[in-house]
Amino acid sequence: MQNQLQQDLWKAAQGPWESSVLPSAENLARARASLPAALPETGSSLESIQRHIVDDIVPAFNGGSISANYYGFITGGTTPAALFADNVVSAYDQNVQVHLSNHSIVTDVEYNAIGLLLDLFQLNRSTWYNGTFTTGATGSNILGLACGREFVLQNAAQRKGSKLQSVGEEGFFEVLSSLSLSGVQVLSTLPHSSLVKAAGVLGIGRSNVRNVCCTDDPLRFDLEKLEKELARTDKVSIVAISCGEVNTGRFATSGADLRDIRQLCDKYGAWMHADGAFGIFGRILDDSPEFATIKNGSDGIDLVDSITGDGHKLLNVPYDCGFFFTRHPNVASQVFQNANAAYLTAGNSEGPSVPSPLNIGIENSRRFRALPVYASLLSYGKSGYEEMLQRQIRLARKIYEWIFDHSAYTALPETSSKTELLAQTFMSVLFRANEETLNRELSNRINNSTRMFVSGTSWDGTPACRIAISNWRVDVERDYALVIDVLAKVAERQ
Ligand SMILES: *Cc1c(COP(=O)(O)O)cnc(C)c1O
Repeated sequence: MQNQLQQDLWKAAQGPWESSVLPSAENLARARASLPAALPETGSSLESIQRHIVDDIVPAFNGGSISANYYGFITGGTTPAALFADNVVSAYDQNVQVHLSNHSIVTDVEYNAIGLLLDLFQLNRSTWYNGTFTTGATGSNILGLACGREFVLQNAAQRKGSKLQSVGEEGFFEVLSSLSLSGVQVLSTLPHSSLVKAAGVLGIGRSNVRNVCCTDDPLRFDLEKLEKELARTDKVSIVAISCGEVNTGRFATSGADLRDIRQLCDKYGAWMHADGAFGIFGRILDDSPEFATIKNGSDGIDLVDSITGDGHKLLNVPYDCGFFFTRHPNVASQVFQNANAAYLTAGNSEGPSVPSPLNIGIENSRRFRALPVYASLLSYGKSGYEEMLQRQIRLARKIYEWIFDHSAYTALPETSSKTELLAQTFMSVLFRANEETLNRELSNRINNSTRMFVSGTSWDGTPACRIAISNWRVDVERDYALVIDVLAKVAERQ
């Protein structure tokens, strides 16, 4: 019985998702009604718990990760190799915390997986081979800004000859006052909300995240404005690059301007962080003209000091998984070292020197979330991931083209050049309906079809919809036919 149940679940999660992308109202109500009001005095059999989960809870899930037509948020999916590995992770429940080379291979595997990711993104191992797995891009952005905060204040302290210089050791307030500084600021263009959250968590303050964009393009850096902010004497700065903006999927920089920003950061002792949650995947693409604009968007990213990437989006491994790379491993350990716990230091050391994850990231005890990454990377290889991303981009471009040509819809950001729009398209499609009342209920109407799911968002102060294509199951022709059928019916109010 138990085996049968597990097999059924396994099949449901692996096979094509054929039911709707959202659960029915009845299934949601039934699941909600099945939740206990309080902890029962005595436990139930394993089989009855399994029944409850499979019969009551699972039918109220959405198709988020297992449907190819769930385009809300950026959910990705779970490749078969990653699904297998993730089950192994739960079954063996290894703790990836201290590198103990005679006790377990897990830290070696994690470190190896970091190296494989660097290869995937064409980041040079000789400068970038360090970093860690996180719970997602938000966690990685916290690491990036924390390292930045440490680094820029150390720089300022060295310039002024101050003794106090480590926030990790001495404290934020103490270091700032010894330098007569009023704070740290983050300079960016259209940063993801989680970067602003990271600034809040770290005591930098959400209001100290400043836009330094051009007046005619909210995503491009205005280098004059940037230099003016960097030159301030009352604050030190971290520059955050939106390597992939969440609404449009477009990039803040394109190679040459990134090099200019790097020079300015060096001149003023600033840290450069790139939020490449999904944008870093642009580096997988080849040099063909078809993808040139995307490729340029992540060009030069190896010049920044730290990089955020997401595992549970385009890499298609299960929640929760992100990664973080930095060119300054010492800074990460100055912030995150788990001081004065002798029992947690690595004893024996055989094989390569592998850092203990607990000294370079937020957690001590951690899940072995590197294993699904490792398995999926080996299963697809470079070319498998490249081919997957190409399908996603081609589908996005086909849908955009149809929307551009349709009289009921407007493709966003508004432009008169279809060629330009398509060249800039990564894996997101942003659009609105021209008729105001239809536009107000557009995402609801599309989602009510239950055949596909989109996120409602806002652009230029009015409602808009976003189709984010991130699942490994994408089939360009099949999914294109479904999407335009739904959008055509919604436009005709059928
Ligand atoms: C999704 C996303 C994040 C937040 O990622 P989580 O994995 O949800 O923590 C941060 N930055 C960008 C650009 C994103 O797309």
